[in-house]
Amino acid sequence: TKYDDKHRISRDDIFVGRILGEGFFGEVQEGVYKCPSGERTRVAIKTCKDCSADVKEKFLSEADLMKNLDHPHIVRLIGVIEVDPVWIVMELYEHGELGNYLVEQQYILTAAKLTQYCLQICKALAYLEGLNMVHRDIAVRNILVASAECVKLGDFGLSRYVDEQEYYKASVSRLPIKWMAPESINFRRFTSASDVWMFGVCVWEIFSMAQQPFYWLENGQVINQLESGVRLHKPQQCPPPIYGLLTRCWAYEPHSRPTFRDLVLSFSEIHKMELEQETD
Ligand code: ATP
Repeated sequence: TKYDDKHRISRDDIFVGRILGEGFFGEVQEGVYKCPSGERTRVAIKTCKDCSADVKEKFLSEADLMKNLDHPHIVRLIGVIEVDPVWIVMELYEHGELGNYLVEQQYILTAAKLTQYCLQICKALAYLEGLNMVHRDIAVRNILVASAECVKLGDFGLSRYVDEQEYYKASVSRLPIKWMAPESINFRRFTSASDVWMFGVCVWEIFSMAQQPFYWLENGQVINQLESGVRLHKPQQCPPPIYGLLTRCWAYEPHSRPTFRDLVLSFSEIHKMELEQETD
């Protein structure tokens, strides 16, 4: 087995509860896990409907990537049960998807709070950039809310490791066109720079309270618009300096975009300014 002691867990220590939602491979259920120390934690259990060998392998590829990750703003893998029915067990974030949370809390969330969420996701992505890992599906539907102060990047189903000069050439048909960089749409080229473009779209979603980017376009129309220089407009709630960063994330040339390391510094500064303005 590929799983080290840290991630090998026993089904007997898991108590399954209600259904949380539908994942790509099967239902996601809430549960409680009794740790070897005796401590109990709430968990989310991903299940896989079709247990054939090739589907199982794809299903478990997400857990394979997640087991090497350790970051305060990335969904934490607790363990994997490899014998049928296969389960992926993760820490539970009870406020659910950021997209829904933004809609529910839209009248309470301040610009400073939204900037804080952006900064946290940016830090998670800078961490992945440092590991030469591309996420490829950065969107509010793939961010979970742990508390009003803390969001976590999840859904590593499309993530891949890439070599420094290389990129991951995608073959999947389930691609989130409206979030994608031009080179990803045209040539299925995915790099940290295309993740930066997607992060920009995700920040746009956050300040738009989870509106769909380019909802006024069909998927097939998006690339023409991008190539003629059209970009998403500034959401009303978005502070101008943040929109300035977004336009740089949406540079047509991948090498002209900032890195996540750059963006962490910029978002930190803007977050500080937002907090000062709030207390004025
Ligand atoms: P897709 O690829 O279609 O997004 P998926 O297989 O990645 O699906 P998720 O979207 O991650 O599945 O999970 C399905 C649902 O389960 C989500 O709507 C989410 O609300 C819930 N969920 C998943 N993981 C957690 C978690 N760790 N804590 C709380 N809720 C979760």
